[in-house]
Amino acid sequence: MCGIVAYIGNREACPLIIKGLKRLEYRGYDSSGVALIEDSELNIYKKKGKVSDLESQLTDKNLNAKIGIGHTRWATHGEPNDVNAHPHFSNDRKLAIIHNGIIENYAAIKQNLIQKGHVFQSATDTEVLIHFIEDIQKETGTSLEEAVRLALLEVVGAYAIVVMSVDFPDQLIAARKGSPLVIGVGKDEFFFASDATPIIEYTKDVVYLDDYEVAVVRDGKLSIQNLDNTQKVPYIQKLEMELETIEKGGYDHFMIKEIFEQPRSIADSMRGRVRADEAHLQLGGLANYIDKLAASERIVIVGCGTSWHAGLVAEYLFEELARINVEVEYASEFRYRNPVIKENDIVIAISQSGETADTLAAIELAKSKGATIFGVCNVVGSSIARASHAGAYTHAGPEIGVASTKAFTAQVTVLTLIAIATAKRKGTISEETYRQLLVELETIPAKVEQVFENAAKIKEIAFIFTYARNFIYLGRGLNFPVALEGALKLKEISYIHAEGYPAAEMKHGPIALIDEDMPVVFLATKDSSYEKIVSNIQEVKARKGRVIAIVTEGDTLIPTMVDFVIEVPKVHEILTPLVSVIPLQLLSYYIAVMRGRNVDQPRNLAKSVTVE
Ligand code: GLU
Repeated sequence: MCGIVAYIGNREACPLIIKGLKRLEYRGYDSSGVALIEDSELNIYKKKGKVSDLESQLTDKNLNAKIGIGHTRWATHGEPNDVNAHPHFSNDRKLAIIHNGIIENYAAIKQNLIQKGHVFQSATDTEVLIHFIEDIQKETGTSLEEAVRLALLEVVGAYAIVVMSVDFPDQLIAARKGSPLVIGVGKDEFFFASDATPIIEYTKDVVYLDDYEVAVVRDGKLSIQNLDNTQKVPYIQKLEMELETIEKGGYDHFMIKEIFEQPRSIADSMRGRVRADEAHLQLGGLANYIDKLAASERIVIVGCGTSWHAGLVAEYLFEELARINVEVEYASEFRYRNPVIKENDIVIAISQSGETADTLAAIELAKSKGATIFGVCNVVGSSIARASHAGAYTHAGPEIGVASTKAFTAQVTVLTLIAIATAKRKGTISEETYRQLLVELETIPAKVEQVFENAAKIKEIAFIFTYARNFIYLGRGLNFPVALEGALKLKEISYIHAEGYPAAEMKHGPIALIDEDMPVVFLATKDSSYEKIVSNIQEVKARKGRVIAIVTEGDTLIPTMVDFVIEVPKVHEILTPLVSVIPLQLLSYYIAVMRGRNVDQPRNLAKSVTVE
């Protein structure tokens, strides 16, 4: 969580850092701050609230620093307030730090420093780290860079940090372990950030810092060394991201922009991989592993939140198409159990950001037991992408809204492609089914577009249910994970309590909740469970529940039974989630907007969950 931006060069650092923090605000937004060296003074400005609150505090100041560090926080240690906001000073106020992550052994270090006379202003673990660096520097008389390295050797936990010193106004020091950090390399200038979005408008040349590396910019030069003191030649890569993909482009929120982008993002996730007219399906990143996948007896899928839901969809796909036993696990549970993993097991790790701490830890555990890891990530060059043996990017483009939408459908698309490719190789689907699925896949973007024709109707339904206190979402088969995802979307952005269940499970408990005040969303598309879901709808209507049904266009039965219907186009049953989830995304978006919620940055959440 949290966003880091730092700059050193010839531009004015403050406006550049503020702009960058706004781009990173999806990562954390309870407070923010900047540290700048101006006229040989190190000053820190910080404020509880959004980056715009910090910005208004700075407007009347004449800040012309050419070096600075900035941070937007997602609090872990100490409540979100002005004092706990980053940057933090060292004891002598000559050093400043920004930090993303958690220093787990901060309490012991802090105790020791207090005995030595250090006085702490905040409750954060971060402030302890900068005091610790200062202490080492003073005790050993070494350089700042060496003091940072020595301190990090003692630290347990996760971090991306940037440190600066008033005594060295031409120098920035950064390091990472477990939290992302990208360095933009311009002409006589350098940018540091948690992801590439603050950097892209200035340079496309970037270096992704690896775990246990320390980067130093001094006198206009970048050097990188390992924590064990070995030098490394910086590997400069070209960013492929475009600026307009990270701006709102006329929409009120990133979330609605990203919902409407799905025809394109789904097409992008298939681009170069599927050619139905040539019966071609190939995922470059998996080419060397497809035999292994086809031969595997068990796939374990790990993920968190929406990615876990995409994993549940994939469970149906792999079992149905490739006849492989699949288990879907919450990464956070998997990593702390003693899971039975065998050497020929395949672990598919799903994460939009590719930085999810729990998923990363699950990968390391599975790797240590000999499993082969496939990563399905959206962010190119992310930690999970690099920790995996092979994988496929989802190519959804940057997703800024905290509640995932286009990343989910891109994940499902890519997992569908992997399942089809595996089934083809294994011979568990006929040539005819294979070809038919590819043809159907290519129609999905247009069919998603068709769902948008119902946006006005969905908005009306949202209006009616704006002040509902609870919601139930029900679906069967491939629509069960969609029900979970629909409920999660509503919870995340509207703060309405919502539960998703397999429709048949309702009678084992949740049916007790049904009365005339309970809205129930049914995923009731025409598929193999259609008759069963019709019965479940009857059960809810018999108890006066208010039913909103997502149905296949042309359905004449369900509209006679329920209160509201939203039609989606007919698709091959295997591809159902790609269209049935769209109305649920829109419904939660409109409800949240009508309730006046901060849709893109819902309370307590952050996009890239880099803490466990
Ligand atoms: N642990 C630090 C804090 O609570 C950093 C949190 C973050 O990554 O935003 O201040």
